Order: sequence, then structure tokens, then C-alpha cells
Amino acid sequence: MNKILEGILLAKDDRSKLRKDISSKSLASLSLSLNIPGYPKSTSEISEYFNNILSNLKDFLLSNRIFLNPDFTYHKIDEAGDFFISALNVDDEKIHIVKSYTEDFEQKYGRLIDVDITNSCGHPISSNKVKTCFFCGEYPAIDCMRNRRHDYEYMQNQILSYVNIFNKQEKLNDFKNKISALATESLWMEISLTPKPGLVDHSSSGSHTDMDYYSFVKSTCVISQYFSDIVNLAIDDDYVDSVDALPVLRQIGMNMEKSMYEQTNGVNTHKGGIYIMANLIYVCSYLYYHNSLSIPNIHAKLKAMFAGLVSRELVNTSFKSNGVCCYNKYGIKGIRGEMEDGLPIIFENQIEILRKFIVSDNYETISYALKRCLVDIISRSEDTNIIHRAGYEVYLEFRQKAKLTREFDSKSEFLLNYNNMISYCEEKNISPGGAADLLAASWFVYRLFEN
Ligand SMILES: [Zn+2]
Repeated sequence: MNKILEGILLAKDDRSKLRKDISSKSLASLSLSLNIPGYPKSTSEISEYFNNILSNLKDFLLSNRIFLNPDFTYHKIDEAGDFFISALNVDDEKIHIVKSYTEDFEQKYGRLIDVDITNSCGHPISSNKVKTCFFCGEYPAIDCMRNRRHDYEYMQNQILSYVNIFNKQEKLNDFKNKISALATESLWMEISLTPKPGLVDHSSSGSHTDMDYYSFVKSTCVISQYFSDIVNLAIDDDYVDSVDALPVLRQIGMNMEKSMYEQTNGVNTHKGGIYIMANLIYVCSYLYYHNSLSIPNIHAKLKAMFAGLVSRELVNTSFKSNGVCCYNKYGIKGIRGEMEDGLPIIFENQIEILRKFIVSDNYETISYALKRCLVDIISRSEDTNIIHRAGYEVYLEFRQKAKLTREFDSKSEFLLNYNNMISYCEEKNISPGGAADLLAASWFVYRLFEN
């Protein structure tokens, strides 16, 4: 007998010993294994697949109130492959119900997996159903195996491609949930930061009379429901070219705005935030799906997507918006300039500030870091809202105050000047709304990579 076969048989002996060990305590058992033909029975991809299935199986059992016994639980990888076995806290009269549940589970997750059940005497519980072959789906699996119906290399390739697709999908689902939650978190972090110069926070409406904290609570919640649509667009193979995806992305953005206005009775709480966050979610998801998510790549992808934006929307246009007036009069490009340049203000400055000042995970530290970030953004960004509300001189003066404030290393001096900025906003009735949007976006990118 060759060494490999000997190893596999020994590993299978070990498995039956574990099963006997459990039944010697008069306990039923449940095991999970994979039907992998040939050798090796396990690779890193197969193990990742097994662990995904095992995690789903545990959740499935728990949700059906089937309890594993943690005192007799074994998870191992040996010559026979990946294997999990646990005693079950289930009486023998209910064991057939457990079997029918696990059959549903097998049905859902495909023919590659085996969930075996034994009763408290160690007798296997069979459903007497014949399993169809994983590879052809036509004949009983045992029949194809005995007749060597499928070529060995073909089977290995089929399994590798199957587990890779499954693992990628699991990762993607996880990413989708995480990035949507993170985008919501970023909007909360911005609005919760208190106090802020001129902006709405949870104790003041700043320089605004038409909105308050509750307006932001409502619009944050309603905007959040669209984040997963943006991720789905970014990972849709029908829209590999981002130029094709842009009109769909715009449509989602328009729906977000519409929902926001409905919640706030027509007040703009998040228009700029939607614009930046929707594009960032799209770009990050796109890059993740194409295995190239990194800070330089987000910057480069944004730059490519928004190339020529200033010339299209500020120079060669007959539209006389506030943004166009600011550009014609002062050469200020505002958020369009930031987008065209790929949001350098986030990648070159804010991530570094957040990394430097967030030395522990408590909110006081985080809140201080966010204030430093906000001041830095005000000092560097071109906020056309301020020019529109109070004129160019005030805009320059406010930016100058932010430049001075950001230079203070000492926390107390920084906060003293930060409070002076708050007073200045009250006095001039201004609000750096564009900076607030960039603050939320900075937190989003920071957390995406700190996680
Ligand atoms: Zn077959």
C-alpha cells in the first residue's frame, strides 16, 4: 500500500475513533467533511471553503435551535482532508428531525459537502436518499466514483474553480455589508462631532436656521439604504467600464437626493456628502472586486473618472451657478477641482492626521483627531458655500484662521483657536459645509484601511 493511501486510511480511522468516543458518552454526533477525489484532500482554498461552510452550518444549526456540545468538538485537517465533528445535545427521538434539517443544508450548499449524523449509540442516521455526482449531476455519486467516469484532472479543476467562486462570493458579501455600514458610520461621525464651527452638531444648528441634528439623523438613515446598490453596481460584470456605470451611479445619487429632500422637507443636508460618498463607495468597491484596493489606486481611479470635470462644468458651460461665478471671479474650482484631482486633500493630508492623532480607540481621542482633520480641511479646501454666504474676504480670513489653528501642536492651544473659529462662524454667519463632507469621506477611507 502506498504511503498516501495509508495516511488517508489512518486519518479515517481517527475520525471513527472520535465518533466512537462521542457515542461512548451516549451522545449523538454531527460531522462535516468534503468529497474531494484524489490527493491532496485539502489546500488553502479548500480549507477556506470548508471554514466558510462550517461557519454557515453552525449558524444554521443555532438558528434551528440545534445545539452542539462544546465539550466534545474537534476540527482538524489531516490526510483525509478538512474535518469537523461535534457531539449534539439532541435526544435520539429527535435525531431524524436534525437529519432532515441537515439535508436541507446539504441541498443548499451543494454536493461537495457531507453532513453525517449518528445517534447516541453511534449508529449512522441515513435518509436513504441517493446523492448525485458533483461533476455530472446525472448519476449517483458512488456510481461515477466506482466506474471512474470522470477524469481526475478534470475533477480537480472543477473543484478548484467551484471553491474559488464560492470563497470570492463569501468575501464579497462580507465586504458589501462592511463598506455600507462604514459609509453610514462616516456620516454619523461627522454629524456627531461636537462642537463644530458653523456646522450642525448634536448641540447646535451652527449658522443654519432651516435644519438641526434631527434633520441629519433622518437624512443619514434614508441615504444609507442606497449604499448596497452602489456596491452592486461596482461589482456588476455588465458594467466593467466605469464610463458605462456613471449614468447608473448618477441615477442612484439622484434617488438618494430625492429621498433626502423628502425627509428634510426640501432642505439640503447631504447633497455634497452624497456626491463624494457615492463616488468613493463605487470606486472602493470596484477596486476591491478587481483585487486592487489601495489608497494610491482609489486616488488614481477617481482622477481617471473625473478627468476634465472642471472644464466641462465650470469653463465650457452656459449654466450660471454659484460654482461657475466663483470660478470666473476668483479661479476657485471648489469640490469639482478636488474630484478632478482625485481628492488629494484626503489621501495626502487627512489620513496622516487621523493616523497620527488616533492613538487609542476612545471617543475623546477620536473626536480630537476629527477636529484637527476638520481644521486642516478648511485650511486647504475651496469652499464656495462660504464665498456665496459671506463673500471672498471672509472666505480668505476664515481659511487663514484655520491655517494658524492647524499649526498648534499643543492640544489646549489648538482647542482655544478651534473655539475662536466657532465664534468667527457665528459672527459672520458662515458654515463650511464642503469641509464637513470631506471630513466624513476622510473617516471612511481611514477606517477602510485601519480595519
Ligand atoms: Zn458523474
